[in-house]
Amino acid sequence: MRRTMWAALAALLAFAGNAHAENFPSRQITIVVPFSAGGPSDAMARVLAERMQRSLGQTILIENVTGAGGSLGVGRVVRSPADGYTIGFGHLGTNVANGAIYKLGYDLVTDLEPVVMLPSNPMIIVSKNTIPAKTLQELLAWLKSKPTPPTAGTAGAGSGSHIAGLYFENITGIKLQYVPYRGTAPALTDLVAGQIDIIVDQTSNSIAQVRAGTIRAYAITADKRVDSAPEIPTTDEAGLPGFHMTLWSGFWVPKDTPNDIVTKLNGAAVEALSDPAVRKKLGDLGLDMPPKDQLSPEALGAWQKAEIAKWWPMIKSANIKME
Ligand code: ASP
Repeated sequence: MRRTMWAALAALLAFAGNAHAENFPSRQITIVVPFSAGGPSDAMARVLAERMQRSLGQTILIENVTGAGGSLGVGRVVRSPADGYTIGFGHLGTNVANGAIYKLGYDLVTDLEPVVMLPSNPMIIVSKNTIPAKTLQELLAWLKSKPTPPTAGTAGAGSGSHIAGLYFENITGIKLQYVPYRGTAPALTDLVAGQIDIIVDQTSNSIAQVRAGTIRAYAITADKRVDSAPEIPTTDEAGLPGFHMTLWSGFWVPKDTPNDIVTKLNGAAVEALSDPAVRKKLGDLGLDMPPKDQLSPEALGAWQKAEIAKWWPMIKSANIKME
């Protein structure tokens, strides 16, 4: 009798464990983007959300929770109910670098569940148009000749553009003065207006302005040129060999989100990433799709840990001052 009761209880628990996703989602989902609207993270999240709503049958709202290099937005996700209705968009800055820079009050690995790896893109070195340089070598000479440190726009301490700036300082020996924004969308507006000198930006953010001729591009931080702008040389070709940086992104949900809900969200994102229309839109921005065998939640978790091991020592040794 006892044994039957236990068996029944176990069966019930197993059923409950798998039953979460049956009615999921039954209402609107929110994707928290930790940077400003109109920027590269926001743009990617919106393209994906639009397609994911079709698979999930519910509206997906984008909420831009900005500030402190994206750490406020990630904090909002960590503190949300673990029910799949709040998804966090994050990247190398927010979900790796910030852990080495801020006292976060949450753990980037244990307080979140990875959902899926999202497209990545190299950085691009861009300047305001009034700088009298046409090549990367001329830009470096101009930056070095300034009596005070040239200004570099970033999306805050620990953001992709900030880490790329630190890497740039490291490899060139040029000291920069960082100007933090709530995202690279407003930083780019200021670059176009000539208020700041340079951004080491995500290609997907700057590329339209480069094409429009409102800012100048010098090099892509990768070992191959990007299809969307094949005329821009790589850092290897332009004279900063080895300056390679790829900014990848991902979706996370709060820890303890039931597995079957994570699986459902992962499935919707993978479907979006496989859609030719989505691939075209993201490809036009210079974004590269993650490899097919890297699309599981586990693959993102393993990748994030490997990136923490790679970047934290460099970031910690840079002794970053909070702006
Ligand atoms: N991804 C950020 C944004 O969307 C920029 C950055 O990390 O540099 O604004």
